[in-house]
Amino acid sequence: MSAAGSPDLPVATVEIPEYVQPPDKSSLPLVFTAPRRGKPPVHWADLDAAARRTAVEQAGHRAYRARQISAHYFEGLRSDPDTWTDLPAGVRGELASAFMPPLLTSVRELTCDDGDTVKNLWRLHDGALVESVLMRYPDRVTMCVSSQAGCGMACPFCATGQGGLQRNMSTAEIVEQVVDGARKLAHGHFGDDEPGAAPRVSNVVFMGMGEPLANYKAVVGALRQLTTPKPDGLGMSARGITVSTVGLVPRIHQLSEEGLPVTLALSLHAPDDELRDELVPVNTRWNVDEVVDAAWEYARTTRRRVSIEYILIRDVNDQPERAEQLAKVLKRRGSWGWVHVNLIPLNPTPGSRWTASRRRDEDEFVRRLQARGMPVTVRDTRGREIDGACGQLAAGSADVDASITAPPARARV
Ligand code: SAH
Repeated sequence: MSAAGSPDLPVATVEIPEYVQPPDKSSLPLVFTAPRRGKPPVHWADLDAAARRTAVEQAGHRAYRARQISAHYFEGLRSDPDTWTDLPAGVRGELASAFMPPLLTSVRELTCDDGDTVKNLWRLHDGALVESVLMRYPDRVTMCVSSQAGCGMACPFCATGQGGLQRNMSTAEIVEQVVDGARKLAHGHFGDDEPGAAPRVSNVVFMGMGEPLANYKAVVGALRQLTTPKPDGLGMSARGITVSTVGLVPRIHQLSEEGLPVTLALSLHAPDDELRDELVPVNTRWNVDEVVDAAWEYARTTRRRVSIEYILIRDVNDQPERAEQLAKVLKRRGSWGWVHVNLIPLNPTPGSRWTASRRRDEDEFVRRLQARGMPVTVRDTRGREIDGACGQLAAGSADVDASITAPPARARV
């Protein structure tokens, strides 16, 4: 199904959509440009500090009100104007309805891992559905966000990719997913009842729906909102943020020049062009050599270690020779210092002809990489039981931010 030809999005449905893989996967086109749809309303989190002051002035108020509103939104996580007690009661409602339009409506919330993983299905203003996942670990809290409704990259193992692209998300739609997670934590969602004991969102991974670098402007806008110090932004460290991509080479270069040293995750999934052409169709545009070069350049420019994502699919890409080949492809660019391999057990989508690797093949794959000195982890599969029909988000939302020096981790859930 091409995105351009996709039917109207379901409105007011409470079902997670069922995705079924079409028999001929090669027929899905790559879609780089999102179809134009009605834009979501502009929100406070779409604007930078200067634009906020201007907007407040244009609405007939003093510019310093902007800072007060930002403090409520980014520091206090409050968008309910009744709580904005330092603003005159008469203007609160007007400012809130001008600048805080509701962007995400909760359709469903699912919890698993003893309450430590919460997945949300959201409906956007035009009915498009997206997902986010909040995961609590002993030492951090990771928020996995969507950057597009659907995806145009057509990877055959990925449920979102098989559904086509509906539209790009706006900066504020992306930021609001993180703000929601931060609110859940602040309100004791994980049972932290001592005041001040609640953890903060320490990590954000762009591993939900969509190809972040195909929605470049809005994603970089969101990265700025997340990393701008409080009260004008959420004040997160760029080190805690990971942008995952199929490998849009020009955009990887562009991202390395933004002065935002976020971690790059490259979804490689195969070390050879023949197989990667099939698993990650964008490989026909930018091949293995080109994406690995771009990732290496990214690591060199930003001094951030790149994470290579490699799904393990039984008898497809998990052979010992491929492990050797993978090590060779990555080693060619110099030492191991720039890279870390994150192996992901495939989470099969409904109707998929593929399944996860056998345990012994997975172990052998890890052993081969380690024997060559490669830093490697096997991804924790948080949230699998609440994966629903998506097939992607829970698998894509795990532990890339695990310490890159950690030994292979195995925390199956
Ligand atoms: N488009 C981006 C980010 C979203 S997907 C990208 O491809 O990197 C996030 C991660 O989840 C990617 O590494 C993707 O390959 C992986 N993924 C998608 N479907 C999966 C599945 N069925 N099982 C396991 N991982 C999957």
